[in-house]
Amino acid sequence: MTEAGRLFVISGPSGSGKSSIITEVLDLADIDFSISATTRLPRPGEVNGTHYNFVSRHDFEQMIEDGELLEWAEYNNHLYGTPAKPIAAANEIGRDVLLDIEIKGARQVKDNRPDSIMVFISPPSMEELERRLRNRGDTSDEDIEDRLEIASEQMAIAEDLFDHIVVNDSFTKAVDEVLRLITDES
Ligand code: 5GP
Repeated sequence: MTEAGRLFVISGPSGSGKSSIITEVLDLADIDFSISATTRLPRPGEVNGTHYNFVSRHDFEQMIEDGELLEWAEYNNHLYGTPAKPIAAANEIGRDVLLDIEIKGARQVKDNRPDSIMVFISPPSMEELERRLRNRGDTSDEDIEDRLEIASEQMAIAEDLFDHIVVNDSFTKAVDEVLRLITDES
């Protein structure tokens, strides 16, 4: 019988380097990416059905009502959620799945799937996080303030919720640590 696939939840503040780490890990590891639904608009370069399923608020609310989401949360005035079915289908045939979600959703996944492997990507410091967010240049001052506030709240609860905390003081080291978690715990 095929052994069931595992669920890796990767969370961490915006600007922690989480997205770049996940992109690299997906390139190198044999793992599926869970494509979230979101009500926010695509950024340049983002492809519908690859990075996200971009949906209207109406359609998103319908997905909630129909019980299609494993978890969902509001973040920066937009809704984000993880469709449950593709994960169940992948896990059933032995495929591991990786979720890139914020912390409120991570908590819901932990409640619904206590077997999930919970990974938190932490920036080296709040000062470094602020510097990174400002350097990105695609985020307004107000947005940066919001994201910093969310980040400090997240860091405070991370210790309890997550099985592994990966400090992103070096990109290659952080990628290696996540890869090791995925390959080691099979
Ligand atoms: P962004 O808009 O920068 O792509 O994502 C903003 C935040 O939403 C990130 O922390 C990202 O991990 C999170 N996120 C993306 N998809 C989901 C999802 O399906 N559920 C939840 N709860 N958060 C998500």
